[in-house]
Amino acid sequence: MSSSSTITTFAPRRISVGASFLFALVCLVALVGVPAYGYFVGYSWVDWTMFGLLYVVTGLGITVGYHRLLAHRSFTCPDWVKGALLVAGGWALENTALKWAAAHIRHHARCDEDEDPYNAQRGFWFSHCGWVVLKDPFRDQDEKYVSRLRQDAVVMWQYRWYVPIVLSGLALPFAVGYLYNGWRGGVGCFLLAGVGRTFFVLNSTFCINSVCHLWGSQKYGAADSSRDSWWVSLLTFGEGYHNYHHTYQSDYRNGPRWYNFDPSKWLIYTLSLVGLASSLRTASDDPS
Ligand SMILES: [Zn+2]
Ligand SMILES: [Zn+2]
Repeated sequence: MSSSSTITTFAPRRISVGASFLFALVCLVALVGVPAYGYFVGYSWVDWTMFGLLYVVTGLGITVGYHRLLAHRSFTCPDWVKGALLVAGGWALENTALKWAAAHIRHHARCDEDEDPYNAQRGFWFSHCGWVVLKDPFRDQDEKYVSRLRQDAVVMWQYRWYVPIVLSGLALPFAVGYLYNGWRGGVGCFLLAGVGRTFFVLNSTFCINSVCHLWGSQKYGAADSSRDSWWVSLLTFGEGYHNYHHTYQSDYRNGPRWYNFDPSKWLIYTLSLVGLASSLRTASDDPS
């Protein structure tokens, strides 16, 4: 007699020195430098306004541009709208749209398996941010997921210009703060609306991979660990309805009901009303 048990093994992963250094730097400045500057010098209304504006712009760049437009093709739009969304997404410091979409498509295709880049079966911290600082041994699989995106001139334009785009996203709050209050204003706005905002957008995105695969309801199916979390939607412009999203991946909405807080779907729908988005996809067996 022997009791059966499932032993889950994971491929060993080594530390990624470059990613670890960058991530540690952002965390250190956001968690120590930003509060210290606020305590000793203080932030102006311009700093807080830029923090809020850039949180919204860069967050929507990820959810609408990187995620619903590129990874899931849930709508189409003119190239200049796509370019604007990919610049906004690039300012979130979440890698190029090409690499982000590749990893995300693999997450859907291999959810909860070792090949899942954010596999929540490895626990909260791995799925939240551990995957950022560890080398991914399955990255070479990604090419098959993004061969279509390599044909997209706007995606490849963002890929080539990614570093200048990231730097412009940090230079912008510095410039606005400098115009308002010289060097002191520039440094303050850079810290709060540049680094602090990047830290908050990163962590809200990470919550979708961690929280939304560990806690919440599974109204639309239990084929994988995805869950709906309304409060994550408040932070992520609607992406917390993750169980619905995993079930109906190409739907331009993540929160399908009219009362679901999903500003990303509202933006896509509004763009369609003014002729800047088309071919909005919804699930054919839409439960709403
Ligand atoms: Zn997921
Ligand atoms: Zn997705």
